[in-house]
Amino acid sequence: MLNGEKKIQRPLRWGMVGGGRTGQVGYKHRTGAQRDGTYQLVAGAFDLDAERGRDFGINLGVAEDRCYATYQDLIAGEIAREDGVEVVSIATPNFTHYEITKACLEAGLHVICEKPLFFTVAECEEVAKLAEDKGLIVGVTYGFTGHPLVHQMAAMVKKGMLGEIRIVDLQYTHGFNSGDDVGAGEAVKWRTNPETAGPTFVLGDIGTHLYYLSGVVLPHMKIERLLCDRKAFIPTRAPLEDHATVLTHYDNGARGRLWVSSVNAGNMGSQRYRFVGSKASLEWSDAHPDQLIYEVQGEPNRTLHHGMPYLEEESLAIDRMGALHTEGLGDSWANIYLWIAQAIDAKRRGDEAFLKTHHYPGIEAGTEGVRWLENCVRSADAGSAWVDYQ
Ligand code: NAD
Repeated sequence: MLNGEKKIQRPLRWGMVGGGRTGQVGYKHRTGAQRDGTYQLVAGAFDLDAERGRDFGINLGVAEDRCYATYQDLIAGEIAREDGVEVVSIATPNFTHYEITKACLEAGLHVICEKPLFFTVAECEEVAKLAEDKGLIVGVTYGFTGHPLVHQMAAMVKKGMLGEIRIVDLQYTHGFNSGDDVGAGEAVKWRTNPETAGPTFVLGDIGTHLYYLSGVVLPHMKIERLLCDRKAFIPTRAPLEDHATVLTHYDNGARGRLWVSSVNAGNMGSQRYRFVGSKASLEWSDAHPDQLIYEVQGEPNRTLHHGMPYLEEESLAIDRMGALHTEGLGDSWANIYLWIAQAIDAKRRGDEAFLKTHHYPGIEAGTEGVRWLENCVRSADAGSAWVDYQ
């Protein structure tokens, strides 16, 4: 169980780019980073609106002279200081991730970046090499993958409790974009424009969560072929999609079905994962993240609860609240930030042995998300055709 005790030698000096007052995801970063005292927020370029960003930073407790107008100013100002930031989180629209990540790494700063990481696999591979050459960590924030019950599912699959995996059924949908985009806010505008969102809308925005989390549960399975069908129900969003379905063939013969949509009107179900094996199935949803449905063929169905002693050690070790009390998204983010902090700390200490076995969403996780998107787009643009996974 995690209880806030020190896990690294000293807190990391931390800065943020984006995630300002009006940003959707910024608070999740701060909730995750500041939970265990592993990061101290000491600088930021929080907002495209420099004055609003400065005021916001001051209200967060950041010194006025370390609330910068741009990320370039942040990097220049911080590397000139002896007590400058060591790691920067990037919580800005997709099209800025690549240039800001590169600039931070070139300046010798570790990076924690939002998904989808970049627009192309080529960009990911270039930046992975840069990080490697510089001896720096790039973490990627797939929000719910730090939840103890996600790792319970992974442990049960690993122990063979489901038998051979046959069906992978994934859904992340909501209805917030059911209407048109007339008068839409900034977060919708940049998400529906290929220049700012990249080659996808919902596939990258929410589908990458499904792809990464299912990979955490099923690390032994690789995609062989997929078929992606995507559509913009609101035509102004084309060529980007507000709805997509993906059929998947895995290398063990399993079949996958994935549905992402932001026009599932009225739906608040969000993420749902179902893993079906030859003996049993697991189902988990972020609507009820404390509960894991375990169904063994021929037996009464069971609901497993987080934090209970009957769970696997991999799950109990990362539980924070204990059974009976809600363990949710904020706790999951705290785990992700902790794992990335431990990776940065190990890098700093030159502990490559620790890094070899340490689980955290790193640049490979970001790259594989982008690779999956490239394959989906290739299939969709070929007329929703089956394509070999590349
Ligand atoms: P948003 O539009 O709500 O907020 C973006 C923030 O970044 C704003 O504060 C804006 O002023 C600031 N900003 C934009 N460009 C900037 C720049 N060049 N320098 C400094 N600040 C800048 O967007 P959002 O919904 O918060 O999404 C941001 C990123 O987070 C996206 O990549 C998105 O895909 C991702 N996201 C991830 C999750 C998750 O669960 N991991 C959830 C939501 C969003």
